[in-house]
Formats: sequence, C-alpha cells, structure tokens
Amino acid sequence: MAELRYNSLIGDYVMIASHRQERPQMPKDYCPFCPGSGKVPDDYTVFAYDNDFPALSQNPIEPDDVDNGLLFQAKHAYGKCEVILYSKDHNATLCDLSVEHITELVNLWQVRISDLSKDSKIKYIMPFENKGEIVGVTMPHPHGQIYGYSWIPLRVQRKIDMATSYYAEHKKSIFDNMLLQEQNDGKRIIFENDYFVCLLPFATEYPYGVMIMSKEHIPSIVGFNKEQSISLASMLKETTGMLDALFNIRFPYMMALYSAPINGDDLSKEWNFHIEFFPPLRSKDRQKFNASSETAAWAACNPTAPEEKAIELREAYKKFKANSN
Ligand SMILES: [Zn+2]
Repeated sequence: MAELRYNSLIGDYVMIASHRQERPQMPKDYCPFCPGSGKVPDDYTVFAYDNDFPALSQNPIEPDDVDNGLLFQAKHAYGKCEVILYSKDHNATLCDLSVEHITELVNLWQVRISDLSKDSKIKYIMPFENKGEIVGVTMPHPHGQIYGYSWIPLRVQRKIDMATSYYAEHKKSIFDNMLLQEQNDGKRIIFENDYFVCLLPFATEYPYGVMIMSKEHIPSIVGFNKEQSISLASMLKETTGMLDALFNIRFPYMMALYSAPINGDDLSKEWNFHIEFFPPLRSKDRQKFNASSETAAWAACNPTAPEEKAIELREAYKKFKANSN
C-alpha cells in the first residue's frame, strides 16, 4: 500500500507507505552503500541512488480503494525519493570530508534538484539528512536523502505564507531582514564565511537548532556559482564539526535544505536558500523529546536560552577550529 491520504482536519497529506515495512533484514556487516555491495559503483566520491523502498514514486502504484469522495481522499503517492551517498567511506561523517569533497556533494544536490524540477508534477524538493541512532538511522554509512514532493508540505507552506505576506508589506525578503536584524543584534551569530552565516535563530525550538543563512539573496541552491558552492561546503563542514566538538561525540541531528518551491508561483524575491538543523540533544546525555505540547499543539518549548547556547556554540566552534589546524 502506497498512497497519499489527505488529513482533512489538518489540511496536509500523509504518505502511507506500508510496503516499507517489507524491507528485508540485511545481513549483519552488509552495507549496500559500500563499494563492492553490487548496489553502488566500485569507486565514487558522492553518488545519487534511487531509494529501493520509496514512499513516493514517479511510477506510483494504484492507491487502494479507500477514497470515499468525501472526507476520505487518497491519491497516487507521486514524487521521488533518492538516497544521496556522501562518501564511499563507511565511517566518515560530513565534517570528516574535505571542503573539496563536500563541494561535490553540493554540486550533486544542484544536479538532482535541477533534474527533478523538470517534472512539473513535483512541487517541492528537499534534501535532508538524519544522523545518529537516536533519530532512527539504522545505516551509519554517511548519506542523506532527497524527497521530491508532489505537494507543498505544511511546514514549508507556512514559511511560504509568512515570506509572501512579509514581502507584500515590506518589499524586502523576510530572510534578508531577519539576517540583518540578527547581525545587528549579534548575540546569536555563531560564525560566518564569505557567503553564509551560522546562527542560532531568535526563536529556535531546539537548544542547538542552528540555521545557515545566505548573505546574498539567492532563492535556490541551484543558483549558486562555484565560489558560493565552495563557501556552503565549508560552512557545512564547520557547522557539523562545531556540533561534534560541543560534547566530543558524533552529534546527532536532523537537517534540511530549503530552496524556493518549483513549478508554481515564482517566489524568487520572497525566498532565500537556508538550512535548518533539528538536533535532538539538550546536553551530552539528555534528549529533548518532542512531547505532547509540541506534537499535539505545535506549541514548542525550548528549555534553554538561545543567547546562552550561542555562547556555548561559539566556544565549540573555537575548539573545532583549534583541533583542525
Ligand atoms: Zn557502508
């Protein structure tokens, strides 16, 4: 069973993907992403791999006969799910890779997004990464994913609505002005490079929920030139390295890259490329659970002060830089 069911109370789709339960148990020590597995080239730097058990497909199976034409609506689980392998080295993580190597990853994201954008039925494309067992990752081999959705998921739609109404009132991108105000305030800026800034946003929901914003107004990662791609690669290496340096552990996180939506309204003036991190830890051995208030009401509670956590993150960044020199 694979279909999109509409949640009429919330106004968003749920991907029903029960076939994913049938994923085979892999033999211990077998990694499909390692060279020699038969699934990937014998040698690669980065590699895009079609998900074997996709929740969304450009060739979707017929939905089950569950749509009653009233409040129970179901449609084809149209879209695309790809796995993006960051390295052939099973034990590497993003911050272990060279800036040159991560630039190849940025280029691969660009190529895959450009390619998927040609499918007019795809409305939003989001590269993301889940890292660490604590966020349910069973395969430690360094990888992320790209989902091409045939609708705009609700949280993204909410951002679009806020960006659109802000632009209508101020004739300026909300992202540009937010970054400007963060820079003027300065308390939550962690570090920056030529084209990007790493900061802990004013209203972050997560103790270490850092965000990467672009200094120039660029709506999509696809529009980055070579220098900007290298700059983003360096920013990703340093951000993940800083997070690892916080507690001297492989720091788990969820992360997503947001470009402007495609195949719909032109939001190039309103939207800036940005990255959000959603790390599940509040200290070395304490997890921040998304509990009832967060889940049931989307009423987030951050048990820490962003300005204090920003100081901690700046220290971790210094530690990371000192260790990498
Ligand atoms: Zn592997």
